[in-house]
Amino acid sequence: MAEDIIGIDLGTTNSAVGVVESGFPILLADAEGNRITPSVVSYSSDGKITVGRAAQRSRLSGMPVVSSVKRYMGSRYSEVAEDDFCVPLVDAGSGQAGLRVGGNVVSPEEVSAEILKHLKAVAENQLDRVVSKAVITVPAYYNDAQRNATKVAGELAGLEVVRIISEPTAAALAYGLDKLDESAKVAVYDYGGGTFDVSILEMKEGLFHVLATAGDTRLGGDDLDEIVARWCSAQVDGLEYDSLSEQERQRLLDEARVVKEKLTDVDSVRFQIPFFRESVNVDVELSLAAFDKLVQHEISKTARYCKQVLLDSGVTDLDKVVLVGGSTRVPAVRSLVAEVFGLEPDVSQHPDEAVALGAVIQAGMLSGALRELVLLDVTPLSLGIETLGGLMNVIIPRNTTIPCKAGEMFTNAVANQKSMMVRVMQGEREMARDNWELGKVDVEFSPAAKGQARVGVQFSIDENGILEVLTRDVETGKDTILEINSAAVDVADDAVEKMVSESVDYAFDDMAERVFTEAKLKAEELLPAVTAGLEQVADDMDAEDLTEIQEAKSSVELALAGDNANQLKSAVQRLDKATEHMAAILVEKAMEAALMRKLEG
Ligand code: ADP
Ligand code: MG
Repeated sequence: MAEDIIGIDLGTTNSAVGVVESGFPILLADAEGNRITPSVVSYSSDGKITVGRAAQRSRLSGMPVVSSVKRYMGSRYSEVAEDDFCVPLVDAGSGQAGLRVGGNVVSPEEVSAEILKHLKAVAENQLDRVVSKAVITVPAYYNDAQRNATKVAGELAGLEVVRIISEPTAAALAYGLDKLDESAKVAVYDYGGGTFDVSILEMKEGLFHVLATAGDTRLGGDDLDEIVARWCSAQVDGLEYDSLSEQERQRLLDEARVVKEKLTDVDSVRFQIPFFRESVNVDVELSLAAFDKLVQHEISKTARYCKQVLLDSGVTDLDKVVLVGGSTRVPAVRSLVAEVFGLEPDVSQHPDEAVALGAVIQAGMLSGALRELVLLDVTPLSLGIETLGGLMNVIIPRNTTIPCKAGEMFTNAVANQKSMMVRVMQGEREMARDNWELGKVDVEFSPAAKGQARVGVQFSIDENGILEVLTRDVETGKDTILEINSAAVDVADDAVEKMVSESVDYAFDDMAERVFTEAKLKAEELLPAVTAGLEQVADDMDAEDLTEIQEAKSSVELALAGDNANQLKSAVQRLDKATEHMAAILVEKAMEAALMRKLEG
């Protein structure tokens, strides 16, 4: 079995991990059954490090808790010194930003590594085996330093980061957009906890290209929480939001988030915190309609970026819009998206799991766990047999959807030939020798005059990718069956790529060789026939015709000795034309002879 590669969405607010199991991409849940882990790390004074929900809870106990560390990946201290963050920001040496937790300074990479270690452990617990490789997603706008920092975080967590992919690309994979047509254009609208971004992707040669991306790293669901919390405090006498203690504010924000999230499913929610203060109970009702009004302005800030990416990419014919990020569960967000893009968004995936799922799919493609699933639906390379002169004769072209069936009729090249070697070839080159042989079979048939025996060759590929080559001697009806395992459809991506690019590189040479070979076969058939014909009917022909035939014949012989395909082709055409009259006389003679025999007989 191929080694597991896990896929990880290392998010600002939430993270998730998954793997391809039995051909299906799945996200893995922790011991409590959660597939989503808050990207939160807490540091106790005795050096214990906690990640996720448990870390979130320890916020109330006053120990240093780091959240949204993703904002600081690969950052210089000078760029972020002024920021108001959950723990103090410091210069970690050589100008890199560091975080002070208790008496220590940790780097953003180290904090992210704790989250990754946790996710690795979640995966290992579920799978009951060690994993050491991962695909990790990063925002499309991440620069080299940020991507590198993410890689370093993975290594610190004991993971070999086999690929970093951008979040919108991952989301597109999760939504199955790689199945869209070439040059399809999609918008990925990602509204998360603390960040917003929108990207336009174009599908090209089976890969997504980010045409434009825009967003705001300070715009997210957290802002909606604050709007709800402020509204709530305004409803309750004596709760001035700006005069709340740090802890009171946190409690209100936590509850605001719960209320906000519930409003996705119900029309109205009670915002309740009993004994918020000794004499104050919070108990107010928030309807979805009222919530929509409250957040309308905030949500509409995302519209500007959508218009910007449309403008930047110059795309006017979007094929699809997909939603990513937990905040896109808000119904008002969905309406806004539909309005700015003029297209109903695809909501077929969990928006907060799509990026992780895409990372898993990418990981599965790299490990081979998904290869069959991905490539089984089409033939990655052309399939055919070698024919006379070493030419590749394609029977099932590349990219044919399977299951499929196709066949052709072949004949003997030599009189009294008893068998024919059928070599099954795969590849895009014109000459069989440049392609790969998948198998061969010697097909026997009844000896016959040249071109008289008929052998049918049929290729069929079933849904499992098994290629069956059936050859039939048409005269006797005798079948020979050659079975070739999944090699016909199961080809490594890089091998396919190499084969296709070589076929392009050598296209001119290959074509010339095919033209030369075809003309040569024709010449080899024509020359002896012309010699034999001349012996029979030279006396009945004009001197002029004879000269032309002789000249054409020598030019074919001359061209055969050389290697110029076009020269040979035109020489053969000339000879063909020059012998038209002779052929007619030959036919006449043959008919006369037949008539004589009939009269005599
Ligand atoms: P990240 O920013 O890490 O990519 P997510 O995509 O997981 O984060 O988004 C987290 C945000 O989604 C949080 O602000 C959370 O409150 C919000 N969210 C999750 N579920 C809902 C919901 N049902 N309704 C509204 N917001 C939601
Ligand atoms: Mg995200």
